[in-house]
Amino acid sequence: MPRLPAYRISHFLPSLVLLIGGLAAAYVRDLNVFFTSLFNVLPTLVLLLGGAYCAVYKRQRELFLMVTVYIGYFLLDTQTDFYRDNGRVRDDAAVVFHLCCLLLPALYALYGFWEERTHLAQDLLARLAVLVAVGAVAVGLEQSFPQGLLQWLATIHWPALHWRWMNLIQLCYPVFLLAFAVLVGLYVHKPRPLHAAQITGLVGLFWMLPKTFILPFTLNIMCSQVMLMLAASVAHETYQMAFRDELTGLPGRRALNERLQRLGRNYVLAMVDVDHFKKFNDTHGHDVGDQVLRLVASKLGQVSGGGRAYRYGGEEFAVVFAGKGLEQCLPHLELIRGVIESYVIHLRQPDRPRDDLQGRQKRGANATGAVSVTVSIGVAERLAEHRTAEEVLKAADQALYAAKGAGRNCVISAGQQRRGAVRSNSTA
Ligand code: GH3
Ligand code: MG
Ligand code: MG
Repeated sequence: MPRLPAYRISHFLPSLVLLIGGLAAAYVRDLNVFFTSLFNVLPTLVLLLGGAYCAVYKRQRELFLMVTVYIGYFLLDTQTDFYRDNGRVRDDAAVVFHLCCLLLPALYALYGFWEERTHLAQDLLARLAVLVAVGAVAVGLEQSFPQGLLQWLATIHWPALHWRWMNLIQLCYPVFLLAFAVLVGLYVHKPRPLHAAQITGLVGLFWMLPKTFILPFTLNIMCSQVMLMLAASVAHETYQMAFRDELTGLPGRRALNERLQRLGRNYVLAMVDVDHFKKFNDTHGHDVGDQVLRLVASKLGQVSGGGRAYRYGGEEFAVVFAGKGLEQCLPHLELIRGVIESYVIHLRQPDRPRDDLQGRQKRGANATGAVSVTVSIGVAERLAEHRTAEEVLKAADQALYAAKGAGRNCVISAGQQRRGAVRSNSTA
């Protein structure tokens, strides 16, 4: 079974926690006054805070997703309040509820899929125009043909495809299905925290709608949670922009600096630098250089022994081993140096064949598509003479310099003799 990379799990984690929290809260029967008051104001509070947050960061897509969820909440909450106060549903309850079941997933998927491309003001107006147009058509139909609309919504259009678990109008199921397909497709194409949150949010809405009149506060809780998921995804993406290196996907220099502040008494730092990378770029081009950096980063990301790799800058990486001594880390660094040295990188050619067999034949016939690189590694541990992380890093950098001087493709630790093979010829 293919393993889901950790970063993909992290995309879903905050929204899943919120979803599970929402489900748990919705099933609590006797809520005290504090929580009933809280849940009454929570959706509005979340919209105001989350909406302001999205507006400040110019995230119109998330803003409109929140507004869509809030409108759905507002319409249905008016109905549930009436039901709670009078013990019966309002005359327009059925048509409003059915329209919400149909339009909420449709608009949610539309805004979720609609990425910001044009000028900010134009984008805002276009989204607003869609919302107003859909609302106007729905209100117009409801006012002009109340009975006809209700009948059309409530009809089971495809009896063969109607199952007993379907508590909502049949029409909304294909809309939900399409919405899921669109949002999952978007996530597969572009795995981002926001796209993950959108999927989880839709699951929450799908769960919430049939329970609206059954479980008290389901509506307030789940709508708040979905809006929180969207706001949290904005925060998650902002964090990623600041702390993750976009090219390699590894944590970047800022993340390293933060980590260095939180290291204990024992740790080892290694500086890794790709050998003759300038020459490599000159020979194969900058784009191929980028591909190779990504591959080297992915290998370094798998370093064993509890090491954590960071992109330090350019073609330089840092590896942090927290709570470890030098002798414990050296075998792991030596191993990773060897892995990178023996890794043959098949370059993606512009005229790359589509199927695998053709690709293999072509690569076999044309060896220029395969390259390899080596790395030099300088390593230092925290000692009495290097007490601060900056001093240890400097010592590792000096060891790296020594590794370059010793012929490259080797691991050298501060104050020790060189280890590993020497290959001054790093490109193939
Ligand atoms: P040495 O073995 O001594 O490290 O030689 P070198 O050529 O690797 O060293 P140098 O530091 O002179 O060159 C680093 C090169 O890395 C310069 C630049 O072209 C390349 N480089 C830095 N960042 C990137 C990047 O993000 N993408 C690509 N493709 N190249 C980069
Ligand atoms: Mg360098
Ligand atoms: Mg280099």
